[in-house]
Amino acid sequence: MAKIIVMGAGIGGISQVYELRKELGKEHDVVLVGDSDRFEFTPSNPWVAVGWRKQNQVTVDLPDTMRKHGIEFHGVGAKRLHPQDNRVDLNDGTTIDYDYLVIATGPKLAFDEVEGLGPDEGYTQSVCKTGHAATSFVDFQKLVDNPGPVVVGAAPAASCFGPAYEYIFMLDTELKKRKIRDKVPMHFVTPEPYIGHLGLDGVGDTKGLMESELRDRHIKWTTNAKITRVSDGKIEFTEMDEDGNEKKQHELPFQHSMILPAFKGVDAVMDIQGLTNPRGFIVIDDFQRNPTFKNIYSVGVCVAIPPVEPTPVATGAPKTGYMIESMVTATTHNIAKALKGEAPEERGSWNAVCLADFGDSGVAFVALPQIPPRNTNWASRGKWVHLAKIAYEKYFMHKVRAAKTEPYYEKTIMKLIGVERLKESS
Ligand SMILES: Cc1cc2nc3c(=O)[nH]c(=O)nc-3n(C[C@H](O)[C@H](O)[C@H](O)COP(=O)(O)OP(=O)(O)OC[C@H]3O[C@@H](n4cnc5c(N)ncnc54)[C@H](O)[C@@H]3O)c2cc1C
Repeated sequence: MAKIIVMGAGIGGISQVYELRKELGKEHDVVLVGDSDRFEFTPSNPWVAVGWRKQNQVTVDLPDTMRKHGIEFHGVGAKRLHPQDNRVDLNDGTTIDYDYLVIATGPKLAFDEVEGLGPDEGYTQSVCKTGHAATSFVDFQKLVDNPGPVVVGAAPAASCFGPAYEYIFMLDTELKKRKIRDKVPMHFVTPEPYIGHLGLDGVGDTKGLMESELRDRHIKWTTNAKITRVSDGKIEFTEMDEDGNEKKQHELPFQHSMILPAFKGVDAVMDIQGLTNPRGFIVIDDFQRNPTFKNIYSVGVCVAIPPVEPTPVATGAPKTGYMIESMVTATTHNIAKALKGEAPEERGSWNAVCLADFGDSGVAFVALPQIPPRNTNWASRGKWVHLAKIAYEKYFMHKVRAAKTEPYYEKTIMKLIGVERLKESS
């Protein structure tokens, strides 16, 4: 009997324990280590921030759910990993040994890289955690009482841009509903070299679609922007030219601001030689496996992937939900093979599929593969995206509660647009 620990109970970690449980059967132990007692459906956070969802609608209680599905659960968080000893120290002073480990700890939010950034020690809001989004909603209500300028965007080296676009468009929708949009000048500030780049050098015509959406809604923007400092009600940034030289210094006042931070790896794995890159992301091979510690796999936002291209202000490549699930499926198959003494052979397809909701419409895109030139490079705008995103939330929350892995309808819809979780062997 082997013990497999999955560290991190987000989209990647939860999908991983359910797939492993199903694939490996009862003769092996599957253990989930989270850092709280709840699962948060991160893609719904922007809805929490504008008051369209309450926290309890986008979270699931994990101790009960895991008990129901026969998975040992610890919600105290991993303090430190000791890969040479196959051991994880938990924050409550206990330790757990493992035969195989899957690291799915998502990002550490690097607010500290820009002075004054973030909801805890700074002046900007965040939608990266559900609790942050709830705090942001409180700040949004102050904006409603006392309307003024809004600045939304992303910090230098950010790799996740979709939620910033979603949030500014949702704000616009909500402020129009409340009939105060005319009192709120809005500005989008991004390190992307052009609007709709998304850390992916664009997908289909995301540049045209997103620019037209910003223009339609009277939202101004600055690209190649390096946010340098935030103080109470003021954001400072340098606009770079395409060669990375300073072009212009800017200062914008704000009444409400939401800025996505850059990501790095979590403290429990930071600076472990052979395991992580300098920013603490887990180094993996084609099979989701760490080349140094071959019984360690990794999935989700915490894996190290290079940027799609160099940009004047640093940007990273995003890791989206379906891509993460493809990493999970490859990992499940490869651990099953390793348990039989066989070499791993499955590789995730890493296709980027994303729905960006604007409240009254949205943009969907599919990038196959993630790095251009692509076989599928498609983006489309419409009201249907808003409805599809609601369906995605309902489906994923059901999946977490009911321990589903890949239901028939997901498989069918994804196949229709040519998306497979596993890459065909070449
Ligand atoms: C606001 C936002 C919206 C997004 N919207 C979409 C979308 O609409 N569609 C899409 O495809 N993608 C979206 N993404 C991208 C991606 O799908 C999500 O970031 C997704 O949540 C990543 O899953 P993950 O499992 O890698 O990380 P997470 O979901 O962040 O999960 C990691 C978990 O590990 C926990 N953890 C951290 N450290 C430890 C530790 N030491 N011990 C134990 N547990 C630990 C964290 O608290 C967290 O619960 C969005 C991202 C953000 C930030």
